[in-house]
Amino acid sequence: MLHSVRLDPELKDSWRWNGSNNGLFTTKSPTSLIDSKTIRAGPNAKETLRNNVVPKKVEIFIWRARRERIPARVELDKRGVDLHSVRCPLCDDDIESVVHSLLSCEKVNEVWSKVFKWWGLNGVSNYSFDELLQGLPNLSFSDSGKYIWQGVIWTACYLIWKNRNSKIFKNKCWSTPNALGEIQLKSFEWVAKRSKRKSIEWHTWFHNPSCYLMQLDLIVCIVCDVIYDANLASV
Ligand SMILES: [Zn+2]
Repeated sequence: MLHSVRLDPELKDSWRWNGSNNGLFTTKSPTSLIDSKTIRAGPNAKETLRNNVVPKKVEIFIWRARRERIPARVELDKRGVDLHSVRCPLCDDDIESVVHSLLSCEKVNEVWSKVFKWWGLNGVSNYSFDELLQGLPNLSFSDSGKYIWQGVIWTACYLIWKNRNSKIFKNKCWSTPNALGEIQLKSFEWVAKRSKRKSIEWHTWFHNPSCYLMQLDLIVCIVCDVIYDANLASV
C-alpha cells in the first residue's frame, strides 16, 4: 500500500475527510453520507426532505410519516400490536392509515381546505400525500416561498397528528376554526421566524400570506392598499 506513496518534505501533515471530494469536513457531509448509506437503503427508499424553517422534531416527524413509521392504528396492527379497533378515532368511517390520519380523513380534510384557502390556493384533493409533503412541487413559487409553504404544510401535519393524539388519550378534539387558528399561530412562530425573508409580519401572515410565495418582496397592505417592501420591517 505504501509502495506508491511519495513524501513531500515541503508539505505539512494534515487531516483529510474522506467523506467529501475536496477532503474538507463539514457537519453536513457525514449526515449526507449516513443518509446515502443507510436511511435510503431499500427498494422503496425515498429521498430525505429537509426544511430548516421548522424545528427538527417536525422534520423527523415528516421523515417518519413518509415512511409509514408513525403509530397510526394500521401500522401498529401490522407490527403485531393487539388493538381494540383499527378504525380512525376521529371519523370512525375508515381504517386509520398514516395517509388517512394526516390527509384523507374527512375531519382532517376540512382543516386542509381552510389552510389552502388561507394561502389563496384550492384543490387539496388534487394532490397525493407525498406531493403535499413536498410542498406541491408542480406549483411555481419563489425559492424562499417554497420553503415557507412547505413549512406551513409540515406544521399543519404535526398539529393534526397532535390533535389526533389528544382525541385518543384525553378525549379532546379541536374544531376546524380552532385548528386553523392554531396552525396560523404555530406556523408564524416556527416558519415565519426562521425563514430567510427578513420581515414577515403577523398581520400579513394572517390576512394575505400568499404574497410570501411570490418572487418579489412587495406587499399590498389590505387595510390601506399601499404597496411596500416586505424587507422594510415596520412600514
Ligand atoms: Zn378519519
